[in-house]
Amino acid sequence: MDSTSQPTPAAAQADNTASVDRTAAKAAKPLRNPCNLCQSVRAILKRPKTGQQLCRECFYHVFETEIHNTIVDNKLFNKGDRVAIGASGGKDSTVLAYVMKLLNDRYSYGLDLVLLSIDEGITGYRDDSLETVKRNRDQYQIPLLIVSYKDLYGWSMDDIVKEIGRKNNCTFCGVFRRQALDRGAIMLNVDHIVTGHNADDIAETVLMNILRGDLPRLQRCTSIITNDTSEDSSGLETSKILRSKPFKYTYEKEIVMYAYFKKLDYFSTECIYSPNAYRGHARVFLKDLEAIRRTTIVDIIHSGEALSASVQANESTKLPTMSTCTRCGYISSNELCKACLLLEGLNKGLPQLGIGHTTKIRRQHEAANLASGLSTPTSLSSPSIDGSRSTDENVKVVTHIKDLGRLANQPTLDIV
Ligand SMILES: [Zn+2]
Ligand SMILES: [Zn+2]
Repeated sequence: MDSTSQPTPAAAQADNTASVDRTAAKAAKPLRNPCNLCQSVRAILKRPKTGQQLCRECFYHVFETEIHNTIVDNKLFNKGDRVAIGASGGKDSTVLAYVMKLLNDRYSYGLDLVLLSIDEGITGYRDDSLETVKRNRDQYQIPLLIVSYKDLYGWSMDDIVKEIGRKNNCTFCGVFRRQALDRGAIMLNVDHIVTGHNADDIAETVLMNILRGDLPRLQRCTSIITNDTSEDSSGLETSKILRSKPFKYTYEKEIVMYAYFKKLDYFSTECIYSPNAYRGHARVFLKDLEAIRRTTIVDIIHSGEALSASVQANESTKLPTMSTCTRCGYISSNELCKACLLLEGLNKGLPQLGIGHTTKIRRQHEAANLASGLSTPTSLSSPSIDGSRSTDENVKVVTHIKDLGRLANQPTLDIV
């Protein structure tokens, strides 16, 4: 896509006044198929969310204004916040970076924006999409940090897939990405990460959590802003990075339309490794429903919100209290975080650790530990948050095995 013809945020801002000029010009003869909003220009698209027929400029205006309203109504930011935009080079995060920059300038949010990308190490996919992010960095003049799985964990996704095949690789990728974003945010000294999760993604996750009866995650996925607070043993707060989803009510189709009409430079290939089959079915089901009723996506999100609100009072549905991993120091609800558990499996040649088959794998793990005399400290290349925190490598095997069982019983993470 031609990146040089990219409209600047300033140009887009000027466009908002264009409809006024056109009102005077059209007076002479009636328009065929006029824009439902300005009535002065021919409509060129039917808005997927509402069915309104709109001209290009009115579409930009409603699209951007709805996101601005979402940000303001939910008080997502404070003036002066340093905010990282999780950038993959895909349509959602590219449009998010563009719109965040535009709204930050237009409404003087006073945000200090940075781009944060995760390099999972997927040849032919992530290497190409990261080139897109680098162009976005130059086009939007937003600084960029790329953190890689290889550097953080010693394993790229290519390495992991070579080891475990394609079956469960999304579990590794999802767990590692979540923590890698936190680590990148700490490196960047930001207090807030925004991600490009759109209304379709959230509706899918609501459906999946309802189908699984997972009320705690239903609550988390419907929250527009989440705050994972962790405390270390001395009671000090070590991580408090907000995550939010400014596209919570933005339809995927409209994001695609916006990127298309604005000629934004994004990367559109799907990940080459196996897709999440369960989510795929939820997606197809959602699209079928949407074809019958266009408000389905927003209706499902609202249902999720209503259900969350009604179960909120119930103590038993609360998410586990967050604390820190005894090994890497990052946020975890267990003694050992899921990333460390998965890494341990990889490094010990037991990659199924933490992704099901609990009993069998746990036995293998116990046998492996017995064979090595139980006393061998685990050696992972997991850097601590800062130099002052030493990582505890001598996790007691007994506690550890208990944790493995608990973690392995948890469903695969699908948190947006
Ligand atoms: Zn219009
Ligand atoms: Zn850990």
